[in-house]
Amino acid sequence: MARDTGAQCKQCRREGQKLFLKGERCLTDKCGVERRAYPPGDHGRGRQKQSEYRVQLREKQKARRYYGVLEKQFRIYYDKASRQDGITGENLLALLESRLDNVLVRLGFASSRRQARQLIRHGHWQVNGRRVDIPSYQVREGDIISVKANTPAEPIIRDATELTAQVPAWLQADHDALTAKVLRKPDRREIAAPVQEQLIVELYSK
Ligand code: SF4
Repeated sequence: MARDTGAQCKQCRREGQKLFLKGERCLTDKCGVERRAYPPGDHGRGRQKQSEYRVQLREKQKARRYYGVLEKQFRIYYDKASRQDGITGENLLALLESRLDNVLVRLGFASSRRQARQLIRHGHWQVNGRRVDIPSYQVREGDIISVKANTPAEPIIRDATELTAQVPAWLQADHDALTAKVLRKPDRREIAAPVQEQLIVELYSK
């Protein structure tokens, strides 16, 4: 399965802000953005030309990197969002937010999306009692998420719960039992992604 294996701190530096791709390290002074607050590469410290297209492109790249989704897959999400009722940009974010790997991060069961993807691929998580090993699995209202019984990954998952102060209102988590429930679809105001989705819609509408 294709996946993004690029250097994560470089991705944050390229977008000029912390995307929290590395879990606990992102909360320390070892964070790449804190240490080198300029884009990577030989011309990183040079002046960047800001065209409308460039601003829109960067916003799309930022969203893609934040959720850890490849270009082709991102376009598929956009096409699906544009076919749904409602506002395309908000539909797009709701689809990305409902990916199982993202949901595990929001619940506090993984410290980063990359860690969540690994735990899912290795079969440590179940949805409604059935093993799900697809990180892009779309959770739905009423889904029950639980860790596999006697999984050796339990200490890692419990460590991750220590980093999470708050779970969004559309989800319900039990950090002792390592189970959770999806209460409903996420509302835009509950999606804490640093993305202006309208710019992405403008880019794809050209
Ligand atoms: Fe981004 Fe985290 Fe690296 Fe900081 S430590 S640059 S937030 S991935």
